[in-house]
Amino acid sequence: MRVVLLGPPGCGKGTQAELVAANYRIAHISTGELLRAEAAAGTDLGRQAQAVMASGQLVSDAIVLGMIEHRLTAPDTDNGFLLDGFPRTLVQAESLDRLLDKLQQPLSAVVQLDVDDGELVRRLLSRGRADDSEITIRRRLGVYEAQTKPLSDYYRRQAKLHAVNGVGDIDAIWGRVFAALGGLDKVDANH
Ligand code: AMP
Repeated sequence: MRVVLLGPPGCGKGTQAELVAANYRIAHISTGELLRAEAAAGTDLGRQAQAVMASGQLVSDAIVLGMIEHRLTAPDTDNGFLLDGFPRTLVQAESLDRLLDKLQQPLSAVVQLDVDDGELVRRLLSRGRADDSEITIRRRLGVYEAQTKPLSDYYRRQAKLHAVNGVGDIDAIWGRVFAALGGLDKVDANH
């Protein structure tokens, strides 16, 4: 199971990503988390990324692709992976396809969580992360529209896109995500 979870900031990607990863026992890979860990550790890369993240812009494709390539060759991805917050640009999506081609591990599906802008701003403002001020939120939503939205068409053309309504309670949304993934190959500890 190799999945991309697509959707704007505040759509609930992180929460659903954890549910998918736990239920399918696959690695949860969040580029935002990886970048925040680099920043917290005070590495060169982290220092470069920190200012960009605080501004609500995207970190360079080169930095993110380097991190992903490294991460996708770790043994915990053998059973599959879920990508959360990556890819975010067409360059990243095309590079990911090339990398997975080389690894002979094509994506199984792309799940897109749809949430309207008003609800996104409301959720982000209540989250209180360092990059969640109103100005930064607006900028991140703008960046999403301009740079990440085109990925919907990219994956639709590959017949991999599954759009899911991301409004409602966590369990209801998880039910929709699970249905979109076809309920296939689920490792269920309870049965
Ligand atoms: P997130 O935790 O996914 O909301 O990401 C937080 C911030 O990290 C974003 O606003 C970007 O500045 C940066 N970031 C995370 N993932 C990527 C990516 N795939 N490409 C570029 N920048 C990213």
